[in-house]
Amino acid sequence: MIVEAFPAALSSPTNKGDVGSEASPDNRIRTTTMSGIVLRQRPLGERDRIVTLYTRERGKLAAVAKGARQPRSKLAAMSQPLTHGRYTVARGKSLGVLTQGTLEDPFFRLKQDLLRMAFATCAVELLDKTVPEEDAAADIFNLLLASLYEFQIDPVPELVLRSFELELLHLLGYLPTLKRCSRCNSPLADLHRHAGSYLFSPQFGGIVCRDCQRHTRCSVTVTAQTIEIMVALRSGDPMAVRRLTITPRNMQEMRRALSEFIQYRLDVNLKSTQFLDRLRWMRSHPVPPVE
Ligand SMILES: [Zn+2]
Repeated sequence: MIVEAFPAALSSPTNKGDVGSEASPDNRIRTTTMSGIVLRQRPLGERDRIVTLYTRERGKLAAVAKGARQPRSKLAAMSQPLTHGRYTVARGKSLGVLTQGTLEDPFFRLKQDLLRMAFATCAVELLDKTVPEEDAAADIFNLLLASLYEFQIDPVPELVLRSFELELLHLLGYLPTLKRCSRCNSPLADLHRHAGSYLFSPQFGGIVCRDCQRHTRCSVTVTAQTIEIMVALRSGDPMAVRRLTITPRNMQEMRRALSEFIQYRLDVNLKSTQFLDRLRWMRSHPVPPVE
């Protein structure tokens, strides 16, 4: 991380932050160059944008990208969501200003595929809504960056999203209990020998055994095989997942269980999930060609 201090006004986007000064500490403006990924952006007036970055060095932070709405601006491409780059931000007391950026990966292949992009957007929105401002967590940055590469190439991007959700929940301290009963802590029976179903309870924090099922008010039914897939996703071994047969029912159970868990535990409702559902529906109900 490069951190330099200088006293110049933030009005110019050409500030490089490489000028030392004797300014009073209260007026000091610092420039920091960070490895970051754009989570979202929104217009600010006719010329500028406010960009929200997730950075390795400082966690989540917002900065004004001056002139980024101008097509010829160098910051226009750097301000696009799901872009990885090196970002230099100058900050005083108020909102920082993005002064320059160097592109690391624009994830073009990801952005050319609407469905892959929709899965990646769900991951980014979940991260955006659950991590606090300016709380650096390199593990979370690495997870996001690695997942963006996976969303781009993995044959089943929905599994990448499920894996991302489980890992993010783990890093935030909310990992659902998958191998033991989340109410009485008794170990679950050998899953691959068990053909039945369990309840997944956001209220208790994961799977509940048969003896405890009557105590849970809201829950999702999941088969033993679905639990086995979630355990394999957490194992960090891609082969452990590929060895399993994953049916549409398993996918649906995982989607519903994790969605309800995230909503209950983190109080997060994702807009991008609704878009993904609409996209999925449109793909399964194609419009017949006009004759
Ligand atoms: Zn139990």
